[in-house]
Amino acid sequence: MRRTAGKLADGREIIYFDDTQDAPPRIAVDTRDLPVTQPLSEVRRDPLTGEWVAMAAHRQTRTYKPPADLCPLCPSTPGRPTEIPEADYDVAVFENRFPSLSVGSPEVSSTVDGMPLVARAAGHGRCEVVCFTSSHDSSFGSLSPSRVRTVVDAWADRTAALSEIPGVEQVFPFENRGEEIGVTLHHPHGQIYAYPFITPRTTQMLSVATEYFAEHGRALMGDLLASELAAETRVVATSECWVAYVPAAARWPVEVHVVPRRQVPDIAALSDVERDDFAVLYLDVLRMLDALYDRPLPYIAAWHQAPVHVGRSELWLHLEVFSVKRAADKLKYLAGSESGMEVWINDATPEQIAERLRTHN
Ligand SMILES: [Zn+2]
Repeated sequence: MRRTAGKLADGREIIYFDDTQDAPPRIAVDTRDLPVTQPLSEVRRDPLTGEWVAMAAHRQTRTYKPPADLCPLCPSTPGRPTEIPEADYDVAVFENRFPSLSVGSPEVSSTVDGMPLVARAAGHGRCEVVCFTSSHDSSFGSLSPSRVRTVVDAWADRTAALSEIPGVEQVFPFENRGEEIGVTLHHPHGQIYAYPFITPRTTQMLSVATEYFAEHGRALMGDLLASELAAETRVVATSECWVAYVPAAARWPVEVHVVPRRQVPDIAALSDVERDDFAVLYLDVLRMLDALYDRPLPYIAAWHQAPVHVGRSELWLHLEVFSVKRAADKLKYLAGSESGMEVWINDATPEQIAERLRTHN
């Protein structure tokens, strides 16, 4: 992998990650006349739950809209500049032009309307876009194992770099795929959020894992992985370094967790062998998911990494892939129980989901 960093016309950072050292040099200049945008992100703490909510008012008034026929994630061509100045690339990462979180957000008062119960802070963080390929009509599942490896290296690089930003507490790489979950850009890409707080879901997982560690002296995920492998019923794929299974209490109609056999806090801590091995296993998992309904499955792939400063021994890196699709032509909606109470009702059992996935392997 070769890494080349540069700047876009408005000062945002762009980094090219190329599969090999002999890729063409990435030195193209961004010729656009882009005004610098002022991010206005802030975060507020819900006084009833303690959970942080991010607000990004500047995202409502997006002034710059690329022409409809011009994908901003495709390489630039003469006369048609995009977010990526080069004429081609392997993997490209750049700062989101309209970020939900930004280190450039102005300072704000520490409470909302002077109410001590409602804490408030600038939305300091960073949001990046990760383009997996220059090929507009491709998909993550169609990448070669060596390209997936480059993407993993890019995630690792960004996790390490974003963890260094003062105030960042958690780094979250993810992919939204498919119109059903609101994706407007079809070009294969993911995002990375660097949050100035530990997310609600990770807070909850850390609390459970910490309690388990205190009682048993071992990582919760390690024991869970051993039990899932022993039970076998929900395991859909295994490799030397990774295990993929439908979790025993799956919330989504389709849900697979991809877990390394060794405890590491984040992607940056994965070894070369683990990164190569992930590429092969994850492509297998994506093939199974797309075969499920005989059409590309809309999904969210969410990397759970340990927070930057705490829980590094208790939490265990893993990827959760899930879909809202409960049948070829039916979507699961988050209705009263899910949205109001965070109680998931799943129509299928995890054992049935695993069985159906395995038949497509
Ligand atoms: Zn494109």
